[in-house]
Amino acid sequence: MMMAIIGGGYVGLILSACFAKMGHFIMLIDSDSDKVDVINSGRSPTYEPGLDEILSDHIGRNLIATTCYDRIRESDVIFICVGTPPMPNGDTDLTMVVSASRSIGEAIKGSQRYYAIVVKSTVPPGTTENLVKREVLKYSDKSDIGFAMNPEFLREGHAIEDFMHPDRTVIGCNETRTGELIELIYKEFNSPIIKTSIIEAEMIKYASNAMLATKISFSNEIGNICKRLGIDTYSVMKGVGMDHRINPHFLDAGIGFGGSCFPKDVASLIRVAENLGYDPSLLKSVMKVNEQQPKIIVELLHNKLGDIHGKSIAVLGLAFKKDTDDTRGSRAISVIRELERAGAIVKAYDPLACRNACKEISGLKCYSDAQAALKDADACIIMTEWPEFSKLGAEFNLMKSKVIIEGRRISSCSDVEGICW
Ligand code: NAD
Repeated sequence: MMMAIIGGGYVGLILSACFAKMGHFIMLIDSDSDKVDVINSGRSPTYEPGLDEILSDHIGRNLIATTCYDRIRESDVIFICVGTPPMPNGDTDLTMVVSASRSIGEAIKGSQRYYAIVVKSTVPPGTTENLVKREVLKYSDKSDIGFAMNPEFLREGHAIEDFMHPDRTVIGCNETRTGELIELIYKEFNSPIIKTSIIEAEMIKYASNAMLATKISFSNEIGNICKRLGIDTYSVMKGVGMDHRINPHFLDAGIGFGGSCFPKDVASLIRVAENLGYDPSLLKSVMKVNEQQPKIIVELLHNKLGDIHGKSIAVLGLAFKKDTDDTRGSRAISVIRELERAGAIVKAYDPLACRNACKEISGLKCYSDAQAALKDADACIIMTEWPEFSKLGAEFNLMKSKVIIEGRRISSCSDVEGICW
């Protein structure tokens, strides 16, 4: 099938690479010409295991990246995968979705072809019908266009595996022709397909992320209580997670959730509810617990060191989780901001994410390895569950004082104190 993917960021690039691997012909459109050049050289602008290999196999063959929308006229299906970042009040900024919809409309104007336009970006319920459809129809002056919402559930660091073997595929569509076309694409995946209305598909994505975020904040709350009781929250949650109605996933207490999705999607859902006149008190608490975890870890430092003004603190791990260089919404960034506010000197290290962290925190001092960051530090905070941090032992002896606190339970070193354990 001929497909156009609009937005070559994390989701759009995985989608393009995986669909190309399945034998489809992919035209990837991104407004960032530097990104397009990198992709056309067969490399991924962001780190994701296995992605470079697929790109180098397919680029120039059945996958081409471009900034030019004209090329989408030859497609059967057009996926919208542009960013939907948060605004300061939690609302979703839909500027990129509007701009992409207009450009699609202009590009397909005058064409006799039928197009299926599929929103993959995570958007507030109602966006596909009320905004994307309106803009595309207005700018294309065409009526034979189908619309669908097909949310993406991949996890960074496991994106290719998740995309190729999804737990389920949700196809939100209000008419048969487009729904059947999208179903044809996903039939090969051999996973359950759930067909819903467009707005239900949009809400499934929001509710899924809100559920996962809730599990994390719940586990962190239980962890904070267990720490005060002097008992092991991991032992407690193991017993909890063995109940099949609960399941053991996402019950690891720690520093909280980050990334480009959970914080913004829960905040957006809160705004959606408020705009409908409903006060979503549970979702607000989920966010409150998450915001409090970075403060708790800094409090633990204060308890150990006293005033941290002028103290040098090694921060190990900047990515929001292991196996990615993504620092968007990373709890490490929140912790570093707290430390800097208190006048501490931060010595940071991450195997992949230093470059992105430095874009978020100007002047951040990053080191080439954990040893260099630990040398002469007054304390260390472990923020990301990179396997190399679990092996650290003698390296901690390089520190001025051996105060080590972890936000993710990975270290076996006896001197380490955990945020919730
Ligand atoms: P991203 O910011 O990494 O990428 C967005 C891309 O869109 C950028 O490369 C940008 O240059 C491009 N773009 C912006 N406006 C454009 C336009 N008008 N025309 C063409 N290109 C344009 O975003 P992402 O992480 O890939 O996320 C995309 C969407 O998918 C978001 O709605 C996000 O919430 C959702 N999502 C993300 C993940 C994830 O793990 N990152 C998972 C599931 C869903």
